[in-house]
Amino acid sequence: MINENYKKLSGAYLFSEIARKVKAYKAEAPEAEIISLGIGDVTQPLCPAVVKALHKAADEMACSATFRGYGPERGYDFLREAIVANDFQARGIEMDADEIFVSDGAKSDTGNFQELLSANVRIAVTDPVYPVYVDSNVMAGREIVYLPCTAENGFAPELPAEHVDVIYLCYPNNPTGTTLNREQLKKWVDYALRENALIFYDAAYEAYIQSSDVPHSIYEIPGAKECAVEFHSYSKTAGFTGIRCGYTVVPKSVKCEKSGSSETISLNAMWNRRQSTKFNGTSYLSQRAAEAIYTPEGKVQIQTTISYYMENARLMREALAGMGFTIYGGVDAPYLWVRVPEGTTSWGFFDEMLHKANVVCTPGVGFGPAGEGYVRLTAFGTREATMEALHRIKNNLKK
Ligand code: PLP
Repeated sequence: MINENYKKLSGAYLFSEIARKVKAYKAEAPEAEIISLGIGDVTQPLCPAVVKALHKAADEMACSATFRGYGPERGYDFLREAIVANDFQARGIEMDADEIFVSDGAKSDTGNFQELLSANVRIAVTDPVYPVYVDSNVMAGREIVYLPCTAENGFAPELPAEHVDVIYLCYPNNPTGTTLNREQLKKWVDYALRENALIFYDAAYEAYIQSSDVPHSIYEIPGAKECAVEFHSYSKTAGFTGIRCGYTVVPKSVKCEKSGSSETISLNAMWNRRQSTKFNGTSYLSQRAAEAIYTPEGKVQIQTTISYYMENARLMREALAGMGFTIYGGVDAPYLWVRVPEGTTSWGFFDEMLHKANVVCTPGVGFGPAGEGYVRLTAFGTREATMEALHRIKNNLKK
């Protein structure tokens, strides 16, 4: 007997469906040179500080005196201490290294964390949304409340009308590329404290924030250490989509109730128990590579790449606005949320862009019903491909 909940998942993972459509088009038009501004993968290589750290770590693994086998469950101290010093203490946030769990990226942890909670908890997600939060909860058989993010509410969801136990928030947002400022995020922390709810805060795109009133971490908001778990990823910060490394912050002060009793249990202890049972750590090489991001040269080098992508975003915003498109995002995030022309749909515009301009975007409706009428474009392309895509959109697509 299978887990019947899997039958409730939508047909195909969004990016598999896009890949299928692109493959079918390629079979039809083999000469077409397709540019992908669809899936959010990076194109720039690892920075020199990271490459140097990887070489050094590989050499250590080649020598019996410095070889490393299984690492510590929560990650190596050298990395967790660098995280605490640079990502938290430098922003005035107190964090203990034991509240940091190094992971193989934010996808696994955002997908797995719900395991710690009862099957009956009420989950809320923004709509549109990164599909992993929804699918992992559907697999576990949970009902989901959608909080629409629209142009009318500035892509900032309203507080739920009814009680929810868990809210997934992702800011800067994938897919809309929009953010919450401190005041807007405080509303959510206050809600969670008042309603005894948990916030799962996905900060995967934190490194792209340019505006000073946008928090880099939910722990910048007072009270968040009582109610929030935060997920980080080096994938977009430092081009680690292939290397794999990230981390999750589980403050010891986040407590949950044991069902049927008023006794509480620390989520930190539960996550440690879960990880030590089901996860055997991120490779030593990946962790040394991540540590190198926090060196003075590493910081400058990753910033250069982030600026490169953000310049793509600026060029895209400017060019698309010049063509008459309405665009959101792309200021504090590497994603642009583009309104499709009147009379067409997300998938309709996806097909048109693919067939007429040979450019791949992501249909907004693939991220949830409120995404209908939009497509997502990423700024992670090379400058050349990005400029060529804009040129083709301008010449081949009617706004
Ligand atoms: N969270 C969000 C919002 C993402 O967009 C992504 C990747 O696209 C991830 C998490 C996953 O990141 P990782 O590569 O660290 O698993």
